[in-house]
Amino acid sequence: MRSLPGVDAVLGEMASVVSEYGHERVVEKIRYELSALRADLQVGGLCENPLRFLVARIPAALAADAQPLLRPVINLTGTVLHTNLGRAVMSKQAIEAMVDVAGQPTNLEFDLESGRRGERDCHIENLICELTGAEAATTVNNNAAAVLLVLNSLAYKQEVPVSRGELVEIGGSFRIPEVMERSGTKLIEVGATNRTHLRDYDRAIGEHTALLMKVHTSNYRVEGFTAAVEETELAELAHARDLPLVVDLGSGCLIDMTVYGLPGEPTVREILSTGVDLVTFSGDKLLGGPQCGVIAGRKDLIARIRSNPLKRALRTDKLTLAGLAATLRLYRNPQQLQQTLPTLAALTRTEAELQTLAESLLAAVADCIGDAYSVAVETCYSQIGSGALPVETLPSCALVISSATGVDAEVRRLQAHLRSLPKPVITRLHGGRVWMDLRCLENSEELVTQLQRLSVHSK
Ligand SMILES: *Cc1c(COP(=O)(O)O)cnc(C)c1O
Repeated sequence: MRSLPGVDAVLGEMASVVSEYGHERVVEKIRYELSALRADLQVGGLCENPLRFLVARIPAALAADAQPLLRPVINLTGTVLHTNLGRAVMSKQAIEAMVDVAGQPTNLEFDLESGRRGERDCHIENLICELTGAEAATTVNNNAAAVLLVLNSLAYKQEVPVSRGELVEIGGSFRIPEVMERSGTKLIEVGATNRTHLRDYDRAIGEHTALLMKVHTSNYRVEGFTAAVEETELAELAHARDLPLVVDLGSGCLIDMTVYGLPGEPTVREILSTGVDLVTFSGDKLLGGPQCGVIAGRKDLIARIRSNPLKRALRTDKLTLAGLAATLRLYRNPQQLQQTLPTLAALTRTEAELQTLAESLLAAVADCIGDAYSVAVETCYSQIGSGALPVETLPSCALVISSATGVDAEVRRLQAHLRSLPKPVITRLHGGRVWMDLRCLENSEELVTQLQRLSVHSK
């Protein structure tokens, strides 16, 4: 115990560490590590050269503390728009645009022509209108905020009929009835879970009705004896009663996905052309941009939304606006979109392409996982994710790891081990095996480098 150095003695050895982390943090760390060492010695631990131990230990501990908690992972779940993994991976152009405005002043709300205060929406409004046929558009923090703001702006203390089949919950925390309640609107439930008819809406409209709303039931599908009212019909009814029709589209799709061999999803332009007055959708789902919510449609309604004080609380920041505008500009060249938009690139990778990739990785992966496990190439199905096209899946290919013993705990241990790598590898557990769906793998060398660290520990 007497051999323990004093704080100053340790500090004396750490000039460069002090300049990197600051005097106070280093002293605090030395005190902490000294007391930990003292406690260890008290219970019989041994330390041959405490000074040398601390001089090695403290910079490592400080470096570990400096690691960001939010960091990149390798997504091998097969879900392209994985909400828990941050949804859309952004394009090079969007990233550059965001970096560009991050470190310098910008004309965010400054009109360069007049020299007066400008409107932040002007950086995206024309692009959204051009790509969707809307008269006007605005953005907020996310689509949940868009729905909240639309209802609060247009239906506060009034009634909004919604089909019972559309009272959905998305990702656990967003439930249409709860958002409606918080927006100050009264939900009038219409029809039945599986069937809603035009006459149901007609009957629900009264003197306190502010608008009609339709919600894209993005994360589930009712099948069998079902009926829902199409937008065209509902728009006719709404307009006959002098009401706007609002559609929460969820995943805002700007292009015909079937062109790329993907399942069809109505585009924002198609929905607006049916007579719908406003649509809301997310920026980081199928659109492939930053997290935000877009509200597009009739100019007079957008003006009312903009003047709501809540808009100020929900507004998008300059990074998001820059990233969204850059993403939208990519849509001007749909022929290149498969190359430029990572979301679309991931969604359109073919099973054959992924099979070739899996086979090329097989030997290296087998080498890394050691004798306790075996790996095989198998076909599987990827998901689009974020509630977009929930029933449709994409044929894909995976590296599937089984434990030699067949014990479930072994497989779980491997999965946890993969998560603990410097760049965590996130996989799916299915049928007692670890599935590494390669659809979202962008850099296979990087994966192998990570997996090689696995073998160091397990062999
Ligand atoms: C995803 C989704 C939302 C929520 O959008 P966020 O951008 O996650 O806030 C709302 N409505 C529908 C129909 C959705 O699919």
